[in-house]
Amino acid sequence: MTLKNFFNVVPNRNQTQGQARLAQLELKGRSIQTPIFMPVGTLGTIKAFDHAFLDRLGYQLVLANTYHLVLRPGLDVLKQFGGLRFFAQWDAALLTDSGGFQTYSLSGLTRFSDQHVEFRSHHDGSIHHFSPESVMEAQYHIGSDIRMVLDQVVPFGAERGQYEEALRRSNLWARRSKQFYHNEQSQGLLDNHYGDGYPFAILQGGFFPDLRERGARELVDLDFPGYAVGGLSVGEDRVMFQEMAYLSAALLPADRPKYIMGVGTIQDILISVDAGFDMFDCVLPTRNARNGSFLTSIGQRNIRNAQFRTDEQPIDPECQCHTCSLYSAAYLHHLFRNREILGAMLATEHNLTFMRQFLDQVRTNIFQGNFSSFMQHWLQIYPFEQGQRGSLDISQDS
Ligand SMILES: [Zn+2]
Repeated sequence: MTLKNFFNVVPNRNQTQGQARLAQLELKGRSIQTPIFMPVGTLGTIKAFDHAFLDRLGYQLVLANTYHLVLRPGLDVLKQFGGLRFFAQWDAALLTDSGGFQTYSLSGLTRFSDQHVEFRSHHDGSIHHFSPESVMEAQYHIGSDIRMVLDQVVPFGAERGQYEEALRRSNLWARRSKQFYHNEQSQGLLDNHYGDGYPFAILQGGFFPDLRERGARELVDLDFPGYAVGGLSVGEDRVMFQEMAYLSAALLPADRPKYIMGVGTIQDILISVDAGFDMFDCVLPTRNARNGSFLTSIGQRNIRNAQFRTDEQPIDPECQCHTCSLYSAAYLHHLFRNREILGAMLATEHNLTFMRQFLDQVRTNIFQGNFSSFMQHWLQIYPFEQGQRGSLDISQDS
């Protein structure tokens, strides 16, 4: 693993306030501009979207999930095909989550020890084990360019002692993951012909600043190529989210990519960019699309509303995407009222286009030194809802 040229922060003379920054990730021979939103393709598919067209939409880095892929299709199938890239004809660079979150959220029965986590498959109840080492190896066979270490996630609202224990174990596992990676690499066992394979650590610590600080110190000592922040956007209020987002970003090294996991509303992305994060992922833009909720330049719009029954305009007058170029809001309304699959497909393409264009604008405004006013502008179109933000996403879908 060479870190040379993997991540480069772009010097910005126009930076006047906040921690928002521009950078480039070099993955799979591509230069990927950050801040970036990564679409979620849990099972090697973005629901209701043919990923052969991802390039057309401008996405170069997508996310899949180790837990799901290990259970189905199984590593034997992925090995046979030479990784997800060849199994799914997946051309984009790939980040895989370790599955730590899913073992806790989807499995009816999960037992943690320092050695491993034991969990039941949500498909058939069969018992499986993940260790930090087995998860790194699984991600090698999947062919990920960025591999997340196994971590222990604690439900929102747990006692401090539980967060403390999960942090201790997560950092122990991060150390073992890094060790395993180096051992395998030095023996030439896990070369990178499948993917670039950079391991990223995940900072836990719940909503306790001192735990986040201690956790970050230990992880930074391990010198990972990149760092993620986990355990946020799980049901906490806005003030708590913001406090932890700003604190956590500041604790991570400036010369490494900073990834805040599971963040994908317009509001949370703005806050996270302002805090200095570079990478985001969330199922919401695609899941909401399948439910008829369109992200638009004038706010979130539900296509099922009666006001669209006769509307000849596109759902987003500002959008040039395939959906908005061809179809009226009235036709989309008709598709959704009749549960036509095409509705979900067209909405997904629109929302993915919207997110890509939104992040383009984020980067342009950082470059021009206008990010603060850009953020205020969008927070008026997408205001924080009173009392509710962040939701514990325990669904298996994407
Ligand atoms: Zn559109």
